[in-house]
Amino acid sequence: SVVYLNGQFMPAEDAKISPMDRGFLFGDGIYEVIPSYAGLCVGFAAHIQRLQQGLAALEIRCTLTAQDWKELVQQLIQQNGAGNLGIYLHVSRGTDSKRAHAYPQDISATIFAYCFDIAAEPEADIDKAPRYKVMTSTDLRWQRCHIKSTALLGNVMHHQQAAALGLNECILFDQQGFLTEGSSTNVFIVKNDVVITPPLSSQILPGITRQLLLNMLRQHSTIQVEERPVSKNEVLCADEVWLTSSSKEVAAVIEVDGKAVANGEPGTLWLQAQQLFSLYKYEE
Ligand code: PLP
Repeated sequence: SVVYLNGQFMPAEDAKISPMDRGFLFGDGIYEVIPSYAGLCVGFAAHIQRLQQGLAALEIRCTLTAQDWKELVQQLIQQNGAGNLGIYLHVSRGTDSKRAHAYPQDISATIFAYCFDIAAEPEADIDKAPRYKVMTSTDLRWQRCHIKSTALLGNVMHHQQAAALGLNECILFDQQGFLTEGSSTNVFIVKNDVVITPPLSSQILPGITRQLLLNMLRQHSTIQVEERPVSKNEVLCADEVWLTSSSKEVAAVIEVDGKAVANGEPGTLWLQAQQLFSLYKYEE
């Protein structure tokens, strides 16, 4: 495959980064994953805006504008066949001559982008829908989860807890027992035909899929939506549980901690939500 590194496109095997890069030493960087189908990206502007906000939060200087990113990503897509691709963007603070915690002021950011094959677009079809089984855990990550940092060990360890049990995701609750998110997804529940998801906070990544879905539900449906704290008991007693992410779009959870969600099948509101998402996801 063809990748982008610091201003140049090259074969993946030619892309080299120093072990003194702060991305390697400290996880000192920001990343994005953007889905692209037949050359069309989902939520491109929002992904780039989140990337810029993360870079600003970490005071990483990267001079690429939204237009620069657009051209970079379009080139990357074309050079890799323009099929079903996940676009990975990664900006680390850069390579220093020594390992020191404080931000060096005189280095330039390392900018890397590559793409990988992803499954075809998720479909709003109960028979074909993936059925997710999840576990719950206390959220043991850090308190800046709104920053899409490349330092993902907290998320990786939670995901591994689930993977080791043959489950798809680990959904997390804060010390007070309120839902935050999954290790790589945002979480929604449905109760009595109301779609509910926790409000954004520093314990939650502002998911692009989450935001697109909330906007679509409010603009293009009569389904009632609430952003409010969700207790663990509400998750365990929900009529439906969904995970959202760029690759999964809206995904139905059929089991939480070994117990079926309602009748153990994707629900009717899930079908409507994924239908809405399929219909409007390319509108910026
Ligand atoms: N929460 C976490 C921790 C994530 O890593 C992700 C992204 O993979 C999401 C939520 C979903 O975000 P998005 O919809 O922007 O992909």
